[in-house]
Amino acid sequence: MENRIVKIDPRRMTVIPKETSASDGSRANGPHDAEQISRLRASQSPIAISLSRCPTWSSLDPLRFRGYWDSGEKAILLNNGSTAYFTFTDQSVRPILSGGPLLGEYIFEQMHFHWSVDDFTGCEHVLDGHGYAAECHFVHYNSKYGSLEAAVGHPDGLAVVGFLLETVDAPNPRFDRLVEGLEAIKKNESVKNVTSEALSWMDSDDLSEGSYVTYKGSLTTPPYTECVTWIIYERPVQVGAEQLSLLRQLEGPNSEPIERNVRPTQRHPPGHSVIYVKQVKAKL
Ligand SMILES: [Zn+2]
Repeated sequence: MENRIVKIDPRRMTVIPKETSASDGSRANGPHDAEQISRLRASQSPIAISLSRCPTWSSLDPLRFRGYWDSGEKAILLNNGSTAYFTFTDQSVRPILSGGPLLGEYIFEQMHFHWSVDDFTGCEHVLDGHGYAAECHFVHYNSKYGSLEAAVGHPDGLAVVGFLLETVDAPNPRFDRLVEGLEAIKKNESVKNVTSEALSWMDSDDLSEGSYVTYKGSLTTPPYTECVTWIIYERPVQVGAEQLSLLRQLEGPNSEPIERNVRPTQRHPPGHSVIYVKQVKAKL
């Protein structure tokens, strides 16, 4: 077996980064940790994750989200027959994700949702056995490959940020702009013009301070390519039950509501690792 990537101190459940080859004996820092994650074995996605069994890292750089919801740029929300799909109209508008487990910059391509008929089986990833009503995916491609299509052919091609959505009684006003769009795309292949404000619900301190899990995995829709660095935030985002019900009202090609667009959890292959990342509050 090759060098082990991590050593676990069972008393603290903290991963000690593998010694680097730096001749000066300096400690591994953020980018080195990201390199270690980039070499982890990939699995099929989604997976069920037990947080207490994940090595915990706190030395990664904070995740950085630039230009997502505050640009005012034009975008569309589309019912493509299998999900609600958001993308910017002008392809030169490029929100950028970097930091955390990622090496380099990843360019935002699209956001979409997964859901089911109830409030507990609509998420794809399952953390500590908890199911939620829906899961939202922000799909990005590695800037060095130039396009999503080209990036899918590479193990470091995509980065997908996942948010678990939990229903609560009261509507969440941060979803108002998105909800306006969802109300207009009930029919299959319908499109609504929106703006970047439809993403404003993600504007939260949790992005740079919240804990998340990361692992190397796959697309959860065909062709299931293992090209994704997954980043799943631990804390669910709360959404009003009526707001969430708009997803369940979206109609597929047969004019019936799309009941379920969730891939079941997949088995972890031997030697597969999921890292639990506690983000350290960014220093000002
Ligand atoms: Zn997805």
